[in-house]
Amino acid sequence: MTTKKTSVIGFPRIGKARELKFASEKFFKGEVSEAELQKVAAEIRQYGWQKQKAAGISFIPSNDFSFYDNVLDTSFLLGAVPARYKELGVSALETYFAAAHGYQGEKGDVKALPMKKWFNTNYHYIVPEIDDSTVIALSSDKPVQEYNEAKAAGIQTVPSLIGIYTFLRLARYNGKKNAKDFAADAVKAYVELADKLAAAGAAWISIAEPALVFDVSAEEKALFNEIYSSLVKQVHGKNLKIALQTYFGDIRDIYKEVIALGFDGIGIDFVEGIKSLELVKSGFPKGTLLFAGIVNGKNIWRADYEKKNAILAEIEKSVDAANVVVGTSCSLLHVPYTVTAEQKLPADTLKHFSFAEEKLVELSELASGDQNAFEKNKSLFTVARVSATPSVRAAIDALTEDDFVRLPSRAERRKIQADKFKLPAFPTTTIGSFPQTAEVRANRAAFKTGEISYDQYVAFNQKKIAECIALQENIGLDVIVHGEFERNDMVEYFGTQIDGFIFTQNAWVQSYGTRCVKPPVVWRDIHRSKPITVEWSVFAQKQTNKPVKGMLTGPVTILNWSFPREDISLKAQAQQIALAIRDEVLELEKNGIKIIQIDEAALREKLPLRKSDWHKEYLDWAIPAFRLVHANVKPETQIHTHMCYSEFNDIVKDIDAMDADVITFEASRSDLKLLDALNEAHFETQVGPGVYDIHSPRVPSVDEIVNTLHKILDKVPQENVWVNPDCGLKTRGETETTASIKNLVAAAKQLRAEIK
Ligand code: GLN
Ligand code: ZN
Repeated sequence: MTTKKTSVIGFPRIGKARELKFASEKFFKGEVSEAELQKVAAEIRQYGWQKQKAAGISFIPSNDFSFYDNVLDTSFLLGAVPARYKELGVSALETYFAAAHGYQGEKGDVKALPMKKWFNTNYHYIVPEIDDSTVIALSSDKPVQEYNEAKAAGIQTVPSLIGIYTFLRLARYNGKKNAKDFAADAVKAYVELADKLAAAGAAWISIAEPALVFDVSAEEKALFNEIYSSLVKQVHGKNLKIALQTYFGDIRDIYKEVIALGFDGIGIDFVEGIKSLELVKSGFPKGTLLFAGIVNGKNIWRADYEKKNAILAEIEKSVDAANVVVGTSCSLLHVPYTVTAEQKLPADTLKHFSFAEEKLVELSELASGDQNAFEKNKSLFTVARVSATPSVRAAIDALTEDDFVRLPSRAERRKIQADKFKLPAFPTTTIGSFPQTAEVRANRAAFKTGEISYDQYVAFNQKKIAECIALQENIGLDVIVHGEFERNDMVEYFGTQIDGFIFTQNAWVQSYGTRCVKPPVVWRDIHRSKPITVEWSVFAQKQTNKPVKGMLTGPVTILNWSFPREDISLKAQAQQIALAIRDEVLELEKNGIKIIQIDEAALREKLPLRKSDWHKEYLDWAIPAFRLVHANVKPETQIHTHMCYSEFNDIVKDIDAMDADVITFEASRSDLKLLDALNEAHFETQVGPGVYDIHSPRVPSVDEIVNTLHKILDKVPQENVWVNPDCGLKTRGETETTASIKNLVAAAKQLRAEIK
């Protein structure tokens, strides 16, 4: 086997020790200059390039760095920057940050552009905003500068750009014009840029069009063709080669068109792209490079070389082996830097991990076919990494349909529960957490470092719970919460209490801007060996005669915010977590907890990008996993759930099929649009669409909440409506929280009076 070429789509850019985060924060506080921040950024870029060079990567990207987000960079590259930011009259970098997270200062007061989840990842991009007066034209030199910077260090890179189609598809249009009206100017801008890059010495440019993995309509196909039939020719005219990069799935809707457009290279994802192999086998243009995304850019496990090699062999039945380049399935932005930064986990564990830097080595080993490397890799997979936990497997095998069906029906339960709880019309509640003040965090930290004993830790939290409940009773909330003072994070908390997860020290992954998350790792079979929340909930319930909600995180959310295993299916992992949470639900019930909320904040997050895959690939196991958690409770136990994003208009039926008694969700920022969908679907679950936005310290007035409630009542039957904020209150201060909930309760009372 001859050595193949290798390619990388993008490299982490936060800095190995999150240098960019810390430097940016100092810059915002005015503690370091722009030049100092730029220096940190340059060092981070240099680090990535040198690592890739050392690993012998053939196609190393540039312009994959960003101070905040690559889509926002593209808005600035194309001049699609709303006037309100430019009018501030601040430096270019500050204008950029103003669009990223708002500006409030002597030059003005503008909100940030909205942010959205990037495809099926936990990364968020800044939504481009385009109106009829927007003029698209090349407006920044960033790709050229970064290309030159690498070149000066002796590294030939491939400038990588977000494609025009994806950019225009993700943009929001505040006028009559739409994507079509801006495509020609965007092509012109990219041609101008290609000219500059060619002059600087670039041989290739790579254009990422992940939006091709969505459903592509006939109209969108036409737009894509229009863009690229023009762009490819003109880029060739500048003596540059052009690669089209796709990721996060396959491009089944437009593959035929893509291979006919004359690209010099096409990047295809063979990890998430379930149809990719089939597509390539249907034909691939001679002389075109295939950037074969076979190393998973999203997960943290070592690649199984034998399996990866088998995919390459299949590909090579249809593509000339010399034209196959070994690559990652997507940008390495979605994995941490390096396993070598983990000091606490045993070597036996770490040897199964591969983060960005280790994946570079995997690429070159796979490309070289080096026998020694293959032998060594094989030893990781000949024996199972972990053995199955027999009791867990047996419990799963023993599941029958009854375990997924709650009886009696929701309508029957409703009568039983109404009798039992005797709640007023428009019951009031909150989502769970109360403000996590400095002392609350200090208490947890002191316990963790051993400064205080377990008893001291518990005593403090119990005092907080008692105060929190007294406050809620005083304000007059109907369904009480304990406040979640023992939790820092709704997934990590459960991960640390359930067997089967492990935690890293430094495996940070960018979520939005320079903010990172450190997801737990599903290591082996999941199993609950002891109660998790029971003690806190029981203590809380003792403080009041009103019902206190038990508060749990659901299996789909726990899984979606972790690095999942690759040796068993997601469905199996969701079921295992569901059984662990079910044990907790039943124990809460046994201990007198009458209402239990099971949060599925992230249920929507991993919904497949193509509608036709929604059920088969995801909802068909995700919704049952939730049902498994609560199907066995008594009819009089009321099950609540909560979701963060209200973007579930098109899966309303599936949400109803979760069969909860009550659902609360974020609605205040989305103009309550979801209500129409609920109405049309004859949504049966009782609903608490958040009546105010907890993401801001603003206190909503009673009138404002009453107004919102009237809008809700236009669409939702009165007897189904609950009144609550739109998410947990943990990021808020105590003063504004108390004021807001008081107004919320007053608004509910006003409504009750109106219907009498
Ligand atoms: N119960 C959690 C809380 O109130 C829910 C958090 C969330 O939805 N992100 O904090
Ligand atoms: Zn929420």
